[in-house]
Amino acid sequence: NAPGSGATIADLPLRENLRGKSPYGAPQLQVPVQLNTNENPHPPSAALIADVAESVRQAAAELHRYPDRDARALRQDLAAYVSKQTGIAVTEANLWAANGSNEILQQLLQAFGGPGRTALGFTPSYSMHPIISTGTQTLWIESPRRADFSLDVDAAVLAISEHQPDVVFVTSPNNPTGHSIPLAGLRQIVDAAPGIVVVDEAYGEFSAVPSAVGLIDEHPSKLVVSRTMSKAFAFAGGRLGYLVAAPAMVEAMLLVRLPYHLSVVTQAAARAALRHADETLASVHHLAAERDRVAAALAAWGFDVVPSDANFILFGSFRDSAASWQRYLDHGVLLRDVGIPGHLRATIGLDAENDAFLEASKKLAASEL
Ligand code: PMP
Repeated sequence: NAPGSGATIADLPLRENLRGKSPYGAPQLQVPVQLNTNENPHPPSAALIADVAESVRQAAAELHRYPDRDARALRQDLAAYVSKQTGIAVTEANLWAANGSNEILQQLLQAFGGPGRTALGFTPSYSMHPIISTGTQTLWIESPRRADFSLDVDAAVLAISEHQPDVVFVTSPNNPTGHSIPLAGLRQIVDAAPGIVVVDEAYGEFSAVPSAVGLIDEHPSKLVVSRTMSKAFAFAGGRLGYLVAAPAMVEAMLLVRLPYHLSVVTQAAARAALRHADETLASVHHLAAERDRVAAALAAWGFDVVPSDANFILFGSFRDSAASWQRYLDHGVLLRDVGIPGHLRATIGLDAENDAFLEASKKLAASEL
């Protein structure tokens, strides 16, 4: 027994707004087909592995020193990548990086949320937005999407004018539903917002809709675009997220970041991975084609499929989605129960994994819908 096991969490002098809350919890199970956390299923190439290993080996010679606190070289490399990927020229001054975009979101709420402040999101959306809000003492408010999960921009503008939130989250493409928001709709939301608007583009590289990075110059004091190397970029284990915004927003991040938050090892590995961006992103096109193949097959067997602009599909309608999640697991396929009644979310995997998922779906269509 671990020393201290006599105390439960209920015995701790925890802040009231954390009592009874559940932690983020995607089950990490060893299953043949893992389609539950929206990663790129393609492992790094031999060349990328060699480059990361050599870069980290060289960086190891400096491990007795703190890293570059401002990660300038990495931010330069990210700026070059974002400029190329979005077609909008940005510089190092527009970039800020952290350990995953979750840390970026937390730093944003540390600076722009907090006690007495509010954050508004359009649900269902990414489950960490309310969790990070609660963790930073920011009051979380939610406004529902349409029944088909698309974002009703007029309703969003109305909710913003009613609640006057300090922070608005717009996830595009939206996790777990897959819809993107066109720039015209986003512009209306930013115009209505009294505070900052965080566009969470974790799945941006998969989307056919242009990046919100193109709106930064129009709305420099309001708009922040959060992105990550975890998804299309196939670097989830490396933990590297970033934001693109006006230089003043980056200055605000310096006020709340912990000194030396990005290790020497992280910075070196991320820079190496960025050198292989073209080769990594070559898989994106194929994953989008696989997504469309999977969606069409599911629809043909009677599933309701929510149209997706990302590397995952939300589908239903199950009579009991928790039970169906278990049926898939029994077939060796790990999906995500995102808590939307009747629905499950499947990440697009390698072709063979998608085949295994479809095979299980075809069997389950008869009994579960
Ligand atoms: N935003 C969204 C919409 C996500 O789905 C995720 C990952 N699940 C993240 C942010 C955070 O990812 P990371 O911290 O790995 O960058």
